[in-house]
Amino acid sequence: MSTFNVINPATEEVLAQLEEDSAASVQEKFELVKKGQQEWAAIPVAERVNAIRRFDGLLGEELEKLAKILSEEVGKPLQQSRNELNGARGRIAFFIQHSEKWLEDEWLVTEGATKERISYEPLGVIANISAWNYPYLVGVNVFIPALIGGNAVLYKPSEFSSLTGLAIRDLLYRSGIPQNVFQVVLGGGKVGSYLLDLPLNGYYFTGSNKTGKLIAQRVAEKLVPCQLELGGKDPLYVTDEVTDIDQVAGAALEGVIYNNGQSCCAVERIYVHEKVYDRFIDSFLQQAKALKVGDPLTEGTDIGPLTRKDQLAFILDQVQDAQTKGATLVYGGYRMQQPGYFMMPAVLSGVNHSMRVMQEESFGPVIGIQKVGSDQEAVELMKDTSYGLTAAVYTSNKERADQLLRQMNTGTVYWNCCDRVSANLPWSGRKDSGLGSTLSFSGIRAFVQPKSWHLRG
Ligand code: NAD
Repeated sequence: MSTFNVINPATEEVLAQLEEDSAASVQEKFELVKKGQQEWAAIPVAERVNAIRRFDGLLGEELEKLAKILSEEVGKPLQQSRNELNGARGRIAFFIQHSEKWLEDEWLVTEGATKERISYEPLGVIANISAWNYPYLVGVNVFIPALIGGNAVLYKPSEFSSLTGLAIRDLLYRSGIPQNVFQVVLGGGKVGSYLLDLPLNGYYFTGSNKTGKLIAQRVAEKLVPCQLELGGKDPLYVTDEVTDIDQVAGAALEGVIYNNGQSCCAVERIYVHEKVYDRFIDSFLQQAKALKVGDPLTEGTDIGPLTRKDQLAFILDQVQDAQTKGATLVYGGYRMQQPGYFMMPAVLSGVNHSMRVMQEESFGPVIGIQKVGSDQEAVELMKDTSYGLTAAVYTSNKERADQLLRQMNTGTVYWNCCDRVSANLPWSGRKDSGLGSTLSFSGIRAFVQPKSWHLRG
């Protein structure tokens, strides 16, 4: 039996030692849920929705306990863990409200000799290979609609959020989701690859572009659905038509720094029109200096440690690279001399696209701010990326925003807001940011397959 340690990133202490799955145990879990899936699919959708309703109730009852587990294992401030749980409950409420409508049979032709309808059938057993940065949010995007759709799920939480994965499993079982319908698979990439060795009926992945591409290649030969929610290098453009620069700088800062920048749709590049650039930088810095970096379990902390130790060196390298190429480090940018993976957020001005910080996903507390002279220049820079998750524009001029956002090749665009996900809208990345979408009606239909009925008689 192999084990792995769950480390508290704020203290570097071992929180738990967990048993890692082996190829054999993953196979056994697969055999178990394969049998259970058909029975689950035979239950009416409304009953499956009821089980999810109970799960939602338990999330509410246990919110404080779950938030603490999450903060301890990934290092996010307690209030952000609570926010995440509440956000996940909001998404679940969407699925509870809308799933039956999107899964019921649709009659297209009801008159004449040949009647026609569409039914929506589950895929079978699906893998949910997940990330650690928002384990509840990215988890519920997949396993909730998958279960409601009548599928069985092999859920692999990230090795950095395994305790949360186990808590989710226990609550699902208490809600009435059978053990032979939902199983957790624990471990890192090697364990994830065991799932790729199995003949599953769909693969739903949230994580890095590198792993996502590898998964897409492996799944291609199976000819089953493969959805990828990957990273981003999301731009935000502040035009010269903004009325309240402090408010815009505060919103941009939050987009950069929320969850320590470890958000797929974090603001990763800021472009500011030259007419407001100096004022924006002043306000941004003033507000950044007020953020409290510290113990995630202390109320009032804004920024905890990074979740993964490796990411510290990666971000500090980006800062160094930018400085070497002429950027100015105007704030932070160093590891704090204390236990834990704490870093003072780094603000770089005078950046350009020769610098890694404006090209590679940072996924951490660092931002480059670049001055631009026109909308055209801003658009060219915003589009200069292999990613396509989100893009934001701040301006009081609606037509200008519309004109700018139409040019973005991203799954999501924001006018006077950023770093935001809504259950009503499809969540999808283009280019290197992913394939397929979750949430909205398309995120319900993503876990079923249509059957076309031609009916005579
Ligand atoms: P990661 O790619 O390192 O790991 C993701 C998952 O894949 C983990 O469960 C991991 O164990 C597993 N894995 C790793 N190698 C594997 C392999 N060879 N075969 C099968 N599984 C394997 O990513 P991460 O560090 O957990 O997450 C951070 C990334 O996720 C960032 O790039 C972020 O932008 C992205 N993300 C995207 C979204 C979105 O909605 N687009 C949401 C959250 C996170």
